[in-house]
Amino acid sequence: MGKERWALLSFFINFTLSLLKLLGAKVTGSLSLTAEALHSLSDSFASLLAYLSIKFSEKKNERFPYGLYKLENLGAILIGIFLVLAGVEIAKRSFERRVEVGNLKVGILIITVSLLASLTLSFLERRAGKRLNSPTLVADSYHTLSDALGSLLVLISFLFNSFGHNYDGFFALGVSFLILHTAFKLLKEQVGVILDISADEEVINNIRRIILSYPEVVEIKSLLVRSAGGKYFLDAVLVLNSQSFERGHRLVDEMEKRLLEEVENLNMAIIHYEPIKRPFKIGVMVEEGRKIAKSFEEAKEVLIHQRGKRPKLLPLKGKEEGVAKTLAKLNLDLVIVREYPNSPKAKYILHQNSVFLWKTEEENPYKALSEVCSLLKDRG
Ligand SMILES: [Zn+2]
Repeated sequence: MGKERWALLSFFINFTLSLLKLLGAKVTGSLSLTAEALHSLSDSFASLLAYLSIKFSEKKNERFPYGLYKLENLGAILIGIFLVLAGVEIAKRSFERRVEVGNLKVGILIITVSLLASLTLSFLERRAGKRLNSPTLVADSYHTLSDALGSLLVLISFLFNSFGHNYDGFFALGVSFLILHTAFKLLKEQVGVILDISADEEVINNIRRIILSYPEVVEIKSLLVRSAGGKYFLDAVLVLNSQSFERGHRLVDEMEKRLLEEVENLNMAIIHYEPIKRPFKIGVMVEEGRKIAKSFEEAKEVLIHQRGKRPKLLPLKGKEEGVAKTLAKLNLDLVIVREYPNSPKAKYILHQNSVFLWKTEEENPYKALSEVCSLLKDRG
């Protein structure tokens, strides 16, 4: 069952409960039950709002290009205000006059049914929330559990009454505190959302973990995740150890796709990237006798030059394709050769990894290097 269905189920249960409690309040005259009825009514509005926002928040148009996802927050603020008014009104009434309670059997029956319904819904929501890995649903299950607490207060009030002690006003006050507590929590959350509050640390750490799982990521320069309308919006700047714009772009595309798949409620991921600044890394294909290799196949070693580092000689093995793969792995920007490789696959591998081949007539690797370096003075 998806989130949409849960919201709908929660609406029907809360709406039925609010009607049942209103009926009970009318029959018994209990103020605590009246408070609970109003509470359930506002909960059913909230569930309906959640359902509608899941259904319609994706609707985008020219005037609202990001969609109408904040409608849910606007609605939740209205519900919060309604709850504050209801809570204050109940509290006021509980002080104003003594409440007479009758028809206790009907009242006890109704509130027991409500209590069991809330407990069952809370249990089911929590189980589904864990299965669907949805923190929203788990959070909702705790709210439903607090609803059960409200019903429990009313039940205790009725039980006292059946022994001849009428404390319904006090219990109504208790329920109104519960309502006010819920209302302020809701309003605080919603105002945070309207002001683009950051996502929870847990969500941010999860995103950070996924980004850093790519070995090309050298540094996360900035990572901003805002939470709005139950959705997350990510904006990040990364430093990538990638040689070409093309490759960096492909990597970032893949990263964005994976984040959107793996992070629940992530609605948008925009990653900017900068290349790491390092001096050019140049390789020279050499054969036996330290001459520049006549062909790709005959190369036995590659001489690596990078400003600020000692030159290195690494062995090369295999056919042209294997050699091309080794050169790509070394993150070379440019390779000095006397002949291009014959294998199209080898050429393709070098191209994909942005390894540029520089053809020379020179036989001496150091002369060829100084020829290239003098041209690349700025970077090499
Ligand atoms: Zn509630």
